[in-house]
Amino acid sequence: MEQTRRQEIRGLLSERYWTLDELAARYLLHRRVLVNDLEHIARSIAPLQRIEILAPTCEACGFRFKDRTRFSDPSRCPRCKNEHLSLQRLRIR
Ligand SMILES: [Zn+2]
Repeated sequence: MEQTRRQEIRGLLSERYWTLDELAARYLLHRRVLVNDLEHIARSIAPLQRIEILAPTCEACGFRFKDRTRFSDPSRCPRCKNEHLSLQRLRIR
């Protein structure tokens, strides 16, 4: 069951960008379960492919997250503490 879901998510992420929330809504799972799935998927596709994280830019101050490695969304901007960040997007490259 888990394996099937992870294979499916792997397929979805190969087609387009997804947010963690979109995946959580599709599978009716907690985001932390999806983060765990994504970590497994990332390990299984390495080193030929990786899950690219398209990080948000803070609309309040323009801060841009660089080289994010975590699949969970950042909770606030480290520069201005804005908590209304747009969601990061994930895709397999
Ligand atoms: Zn900011």
